[in-house]
Amino acid sequence: MSVNVTTVAQIQLAINLARSQNLRLVIKNTGHDYGAKSTGAGALSLWTHNLKDIRYYENYEEGSYIGPAFKMGAGVQVFEAYEAAHKHNLTVVGAEGKVLSMELVTADGRFVTASESSNPELFWALRGGGGSTYGVVTSMVIKAFPEIPVSTMIFSVSTGDNLSVGQFWQAFRAYFAGFANYTDAGNYAHFDLNATSGNYVWNMAPWFAPNMSKSELEDLAGPFFKAVGNIGIDLQPTYREYANFYDAWNNSFPLELWGSNLARYGSRLFPRENWEDSSKLSSTFEAIRHVVDNGGVVSAYNVAAAPKSGYPDNAVNPAWRETVLHAIDIVAWTQDMYTELITIWSNVLTSDWGMMWRSVSPGSGAYLSESDYIEPGFQQSFWGSKYDRLYKLKKKLDPWDVFYAQNAVGSEDWEMGDYIFGNLPSQNSRLCRRGTNPSQQRENEDDA
Ligand SMILES: Cc1cc2nc3c(=O)[nH]c(=O)nc-3n(C[C@H](O)[C@H](O)[C@H](O)COP(=O)(O)OP(=O)(O)OC[C@H]3O[C@@H](n4cnc5c(N)ncnc54)[C@H](O)[C@@H]3O)c2cc1C
Repeated sequence: MSVNVTTVAQIQLAINLARSQNLRLVIKNTGHDYGAKSTGAGALSLWTHNLKDIRYYENYEEGSYIGPAFKMGAGVQVFEAYEAAHKHNLTVVGAEGKVLSMELVTADGRFVTASESSNPELFWALRGGGGSTYGVVTSMVIKAFPEIPVSTMIFSVSTGDNLSVGQFWQAFRAYFAGFANYTDAGNYAHFDLNATSGNYVWNMAPWFAPNMSKSELEDLAGPFFKAVGNIGIDLQPTYREYANFYDAWNNSFPLELWGSNLARYGSRLFPRENWEDSSKLSSTFEAIRHVVDNGGVVSAYNVAAAPKSGYPDNAVNPAWRETVLHAIDIVAWTQDMYTELITIWSNVLTSDWGMMWRSVSPGSGAYLSESDYIEPGFQQSFWGSKYDRLYKLKKKLDPWDVFYAQNAVGSEDWEMGDYIFGNLPSQNSRLCRRGTNPSQQRENEDDA
C-alpha cells in the first residue's frame, strides 16, 4: 500500500502504524537511487514526490547566516529548484549543498526541525547519513547565492578510419592527467567512455566552468588540446558562454530517464593523491581502461567536493573531500540472455571491475546514491570514519528500526529472505532481523 503524501499528519499516522504493527515501511521520493532503496514488497510506502512547495525568504536567519534562502518541499526536483532560484536572479546548489535546516517526522512520530540550533545531532546525521534512516524529511531550507557566469565545452572522440585505439587512449590519458588542475580551478566535467558499438567512444558532456569566461576555459584546457594535437588528433570542441548558472545548466544537462532491469552499476571515488604519484596515476588510468576494454561503460565526473572556503562538520563521507574523480561502471545485458550468463556479468561488476577500482584507491569510498547494490564493506565505503557515530545515532533515534533501506546505516542488522543472480538480495522477499529468517535458518540446518 502506498500513501501519496500531502500533509505531515499523513506521515505521522503511517509511521505510528508501521512502528506499532511492526510493518516494513519504505520511503520513496522519485525512485532514482541506484540501489532500489525506495522499494520493498508488501511494505507500507510513503511517496513524498508531491511535496512540491517552494518558498522564498529574502533574509533568512539561521545561526550566523542572514541572507536569501529557499524552503523546498521534499518532492522538489533539482530542475524546479534551479528554476525558482533563477526567477529571483539567484543560484542554489543542487543536492545537499548549504542546507540551513530541515523539517522531518521522526521514528516516534514527532514533527521536528533539525538545524545547527535545533536538534543538532539529527542535523549532523541527516546531511550525509543517507535516506530512510532517521526520519521522513518533508522540507529543507537552503542558502541562495548571487548568479554567476559559466562557460562550457563539449567534444566527442571516436576510433575509426582516422583514429586508432592507441591514439584514443593517449588522448584520454592527456585529459586524465590534468584532473587535479581542473578541479583546483573550480571546474566540473561529466564524460562517458565505452566500446560497446565496436568503436571506442569518449563524449565530454560537458566540461563545466563556473565563474570563467570562454577564454579562461580555453587557457585552462590549452595544454590538453596541445597534447591531443601532438598525438595527431584534430579535436574541435564547442564552447559556450552563459551569463548565469541556470541557462548553462539547462542547456547542458538534459533530464535523464531511469528504470532498467537490464544493467547493474558500481562506482568509486578516486582520491587526489592518485594524481600526485605517477605510478598511482598509471594504475588508476589502467583500472578505468580495464572496464571499457572488457565491455563495460564508464560514466564519470571530474569533481571535487572540497571547497577552499571549507565545509561544515556533517556526516558526509570523508572520501568526498579527497576526491577528484567519481566514476561509475556499468554492465548491461539483454532480455534474452541466459540467467547463468547474466550472473557471470553481474559478478564481474562487483568482483572484477569493482575490486580493481578499490585496489587502486584503498581506504577511499563510493557515492552512496550511485553505488553497487552489494558494495562490499558498505559502511566504510559510504561513510568511512563517520560510520560509528551514525550507527550509534541510529540506535538512539530509531530504536525500533522503523526506517530501513538497502545499505542504509544499521541495515546490516537485517537481511532479505531470497536472492537473485545468486547474491543480490531480492526486494520482493521477506525482510527479517538478521539471524531470524526462517528460510535461512532451514538452509543452515541443512548445511549442518
Ligand atoms: C539518471 C540518474 C542521474 C543522476 N544524476 C545525479 C547527479 O547528477 N548528481 C547526484 O548527486 N546524483 C545523481 N543521481 C543520484 C540521485 O540523485 C540520488 O539517487 C537521489 O537520492 C535520488 O533522489 P530520489 O528522490 O529519486 O530518491 P529515491 O530513490 O526516491 O530515494 C532515495 C533514498 O532516500 C529515501 N528517501 C526518499 N525520500 C525521503 C524523504 N523525504 N525522507 C527521508 N528519506 C527519503 C528513500 O527511502 C531511499 O532510501 C542520479 C540518479 C539517476 C538515476
